[in-house]
Amino acid sequence: MRLLLLAPPGAGKGTQGERLAAWSGARHIAAGDLLRAQAQAGGGLGHEIAAYQERGDLVPDQIVLDVLTPAVVDAAAAGGYILDGFPRTLPQATAAAELAARLGVTLDAAIYLHATDEVLTRRLLDRASQSGRSDDKADVIRHRLRVYAETTGQLVPYYTERGILVSVDADQPPDSVTADIQSRLSALPFLAS
Ligand code: ADP
Repeated sequence: MRLLLLAPPGAGKGTQGERLAAWSGARHIAAGDLLRAQAQAGGGLGHEIAAYQERGDLVPDQIVLDVLTPAVVDAAAAGGYILDGFPRTLPQATAAAELAARLGVTLDAAIYLHATDEVLTRRLLDRASQSGRSDDKADVIRHRLRVYAETTGQLVPYYTERGILVSVDADQPPDSVTADIQSRLSALPFLAS
């Protein structure tokens, strides 16, 4: 199975990504986690990534592609992937589509988890004290939601036009979101086996 989770900050794509990976056997690739690991490793590149993440700005496309491409190639060879937080811009989506086509492993579905900004903000503020993330602060959260609306939101029409968008209401308990995703995926003719 090859999926993409498209969602604003706080919609639960990390949680759902892990569950879908366990359910399907595909590998969970969390862009934010891979970039945070690279930031923690330090060095010039690490410091650059950390600065973007702390501000809630997107890391430049070329850096993201350099970090993410090997993980996608490995996962594709191992039988599938659940992309969480990548692609997040139109140039990333185009590059990812070209890579997938070259490897013969194109996306089965793009799962769009949606919720209102009010719900997302409340969740992010609630988890801020435990997350230990430098970007879980009220002003940075506001900025991340704006960046999502202005940039990543463009991927909703992009995947709709390609006929693979699956919209799921993320304003439900995690188990209900998982159940909705699974039932929607099971209904897709090309995934039924
Ligand atoms: P959230 O979705 O809650 O913002 P993530 O862990 O997915 O959490 O992302 C955290 C940060 O990592 C983003 O604000 C951004 O700085 C960086 N990031 C993650 N994925 C990408 C991406 N595909 N392109 C650019 N930057 C990214």
